[in-house]
Amino acid sequence: MEFRYLGSSGLKISTVTYGNWLTHGSQVENDVAKQCVQAALDCGITTFDTADVYANTKAETVLGEALKGERRQSLEIFTKVYWPTGPAGPNDCGLSRKHIMESIDGSLSRLQTDYVDLYQAHRYDPDTPLEETMQAFADVVRAGKALYIGVSEWTAEQLRAGHALARELGIGLISSQPQYSMLWRVIEDEVIPASRELGVGQIVWSPIAQGVLSGKYLPGQQPPAGSRATDAKGGADMVQRFLNDDVLSRVQALKPIAEELELTMAQLAVAWVLQNDNVSAALVGASRPEQVQENVKAAGVRIADEAMKRIDQALGDVVVRDPAKTAENAPARRPS
Ligand code: NDP
Repeated sequence: MEFRYLGSSGLKISTVTYGNWLTHGSQVENDVAKQCVQAALDCGITTFDTADVYANTKAETVLGEALKGERRQSLEIFTKVYWPTGPAGPNDCGLSRKHIMESIDGSLSRLQTDYVDLYQAHRYDPDTPLEETMQAFADVVRAGKALYIGVSEWTAEQLRAGHALARELGIGLISSQPQYSMLWRVIEDEVIPASRELGVGQIVWSPIAQGVLSGKYLPGQQPPAGSRATDAKGGADMVQRFLNDDVLSRVQALKPIAEELELTMAQLAVAWVLQNDNVSAALVGASRPEQVQENVKAAGVRIADEAMKRIDQALGDVVVRDPAKTAENAPARRPS
């Protein structure tokens, strides 16, 4: 395994990090979920990412059970707050002091741990003053319930404002968790330059574009059985955005490049995001342990500039680069 510092902090994390969105407590049975976590541990993954909202809190419970008995100091456990949980009452979401304080306690109890290494704002909350949010995060840190603070899908401007307040309060806002893959590069123009300036590292989600960059979805054909695109519990809706023949044909053009580099297509996708040195980790999901074992081999792989150029040529104009997408993909009002 390769480890990188998370931003300019002293925290090291595994460059391949395991996440359980759409899988634990939902698409994947609990015994398979545990096998995936065990495979991750056996492969040297030490960093695990979840959120209170995944499977409406069940994903945290499954992860907590799967990690039970592991040496806590050898793990980095990350979770998030913002999206509606529980009965989705008016205060069961967002980044108010009330919800942050209540949500961290629920997460710690489900994860069976006294603290998380990183507590992340899952989106920006335009309806709560940023000062209130950052003060609540600072109090969570001072209470020893989280060691560091991170954010997810915040714009460059939001990152700068949050970082400045965190600094005043004496806590570390050290990470950003955006979507980033060969197909989705919207952070390159604004979020990454701001993050470099602030010492913030990226933990990037869906580096395999939810399985699409593994090359298993073929243009003009039905998705393979058991894949996310066939998961009626939520996965199918989420992966739809990439399932059009234009994208799928372009993705097939990556196959010879992966073969030449002696990588599988999924490994190429994970290795690709890790070529960017502002990326601290690629956050991968898995519906079976073999996927973890395969994808982890992308850690430490270097891709030559010439191959990086060929990847760009192969994908052409299906790559999404518009920096405005970061703001567009976050709700303009707090959801209820
Ligand atoms: P990936 O792009 O890694 O997709 C993972 C899925 O792709 C797997 O569940 C599996 O689905 C398929 N897959 C993985 N490896 C292979 C392989 N080698 N061959 C074929 N198929 C493969 O990431 P996710 O979309 O799962 O996201 C990863 C994590 O990122 C989440 O768990 C979460 O922690 C985080 N995240 C954060 C978000 C945020 O807003 N902050 C939003 C979304 C995710 P299957 O087998 O079912 O097809």
